[in-house]
Amino acid sequence: MKTEVTHDQLLVGIAVSPGIAIGRALLLHRPTDISPVREIAREEVADEIQRLHAAIALSRQQLEVVRRKAEEHPTPEPGLIIDAHLLILDDIMLVSETIATIEKDLVDAETALRRTLLRIRHLFAAIEDEYLRERRSDVEFVGQRILRNLIGYQEHLLQELTEQVILVAHDLSPADTLLLDRNKILAFVTDAGGRTSHTAILARSMGIPAIVGLESVTQLVQQGLPLIVDGSTGMVVIHPSADSFRDYLLRKQQYEYAEQELELLRDLPAQTTDGYELILRANLDAPADIPQARKNGACGVGLMRTEFLFMNRTVPPTEDEQFRIYQEMVEAMAPASVMIRTLDVGGDKLVDHINLEGEANPALGLRAIRFSLKEEVLFRTQLRAILRASAFGQVRLAFPMITGIEELRACRLHLRAVMEELTASQQPFDPKLQVGIVVETPSAALLAGLLAREVDFFSVGTNDLIQYCLAVDRGNEHLAYLYDPLHPAILRALQLVCEAGRRAGIPVGMCGEMASDPLYIDVLVALGFTELSMSPNDILWMKRALRLSRKDRSDALLTTLLTLPTGAEIRHHLEEVMQTSFPELFPPPEI
Ligand code: PEP
Ligand code: MG
Repeated sequence: MKTEVTHDQLLVGIAVSPGIAIGRALLLHRPTDISPVREIAREEVADEIQRLHAAIALSRQQLEVVRRKAEEHPTPEPGLIIDAHLLILDDIMLVSETIATIEKDLVDAETALRRTLLRIRHLFAAIEDEYLRERRSDVEFVGQRILRNLIGYQEHLLQELTEQVILVAHDLSPADTLLLDRNKILAFVTDAGGRTSHTAILARSMGIPAIVGLESVTQLVQQGLPLIVDGSTGMVVIHPSADSFRDYLLRKQQYEYAEQELELLRDLPAQTTDGYELILRANLDAPADIPQARKNGACGVGLMRTEFLFMNRTVPPTEDEQFRIYQEMVEAMAPASVMIRTLDVGGDKLVDHINLEGEANPALGLRAIRFSLKEEVLFRTQLRAILRASAFGQVRLAFPMITGIEELRACRLHLRAVMEELTASQQPFDPKLQVGIVVETPSAALLAGLLAREVDFFSVGTNDLIQYCLAVDRGNEHLAYLYDPLHPAILRALQLVCEAGRRAGIPVGMCGEMASDPLYIDVLVALGFTELSMSPNDILWMKRALRLSRKDRSDALLTTLLTLPTGAEIRHHLEEVMQTSFPELFPPPEI
């Protein structure tokens, strides 16, 4: 009997990175270590030990493949990480303890290995030396690989792909995303995640269409099934019919054509029809993204998230390594400025060698500037590297997640001390470099008037500001409906910050994702932002909207929006006005 094939099953998630992809699914399904404890008879002991050895041997083969791949990488770090993992495979404790547990407790190899890993975890926790303590994640990584091999689970090595695929996963960490090969991954879709999770932001900056928060996509899609992903609308079509294929192929071509048309705007001024100018900058995480910024006509870098330099490696980058990267960025962008934000780890940005586990509320925990002020050596190393880079162009330094004046002053004390050290050792830096803060906590918005007197600029981080103001986890797919940039409380918070900046005569920029949605252009113009920074791929779309906008009309629109009591009403009114004023930008929804 022939089973009926269902075509065109639709799923809607959160569209986080635009573009249309058509291809086959690669399901990345990582098993969790929840297989039950299996007790064994004494006669089975030898077999279990044999299974353990076989899993270790297989892990070695897999790591050697990755090691060869790492040799193609321009920097040595990935290779060194894999070398360290290969060494862990030989670790006496890992192997002999596991064998001893199989023999003594009469349990299967999986259970014995998990018990060894638990003991190692405890041992690491007690180590005083921070560097050694942080090696724990490497042992975990290797231990999990052996476990996967014991279970018989085969992970598709994402770096080993030979054909182009659409990646389907429950979730991807920012570190996983960074390793994706953009030539092989046509798009990715995940069950978890929100619009401003860092994974989403990375997808956008890498130009990979992506949809997150689909909740059950990993359950509905089978390996190799054809998929269509529309990263602009958040729609996934599972097993598309021939009609859908044709339809989306056409939309894909139209999207790519519109993208090409945008290039004509590259060298035109970023201003409204009545002359209100906005500086449009790029959010760049690494020098590799510089060509993207250039291609899209970015006027400098409005946010460099330095934490990405700390990911996918076993030790933090040294001062010299950091300096070289900042210098490359600053020189490439000169005479335009580069805003370098100090390390912002924590929340959804986890770094292997920085152990932040165990916090009940990571987003409210030891994150960003709090971490830097605690880890002074790391902080000063970074400040020194940034200051040294400032001798090569225009650097603006920003501190993330400031909540009040004390933190800002504490940062400034460190900065001054590092400047004195550099002066004493005759190392050049720009003594007048601009110092600002990322305004992303409600308290910073409320205190904007006081903070504005002590900084050279504000950059509003709406991703966190919205999360903290509305008490909504930015990465939680179940709360996405509450995460609303147009919430009346958010518009008022933004008004406070812009007003404080204007009174103090300092520039006020926005570097959160709200800065990259053309729907908000009139609101941002009316609020009085002077700069917007976004993923390079979004710059020309925003410029197109800005060049159609008008300051006086935007001001009147904002006045009306501020009289409305709910985010839904504000959005409804804004969409109606934008669709009427700019039908070419915001075509009315298809019925
Ligand atoms: C923000 O919070 O808006 C921001 C730009 O920083 P991040 O997304 O890195 O937290
Ligand atoms: Mg932030």
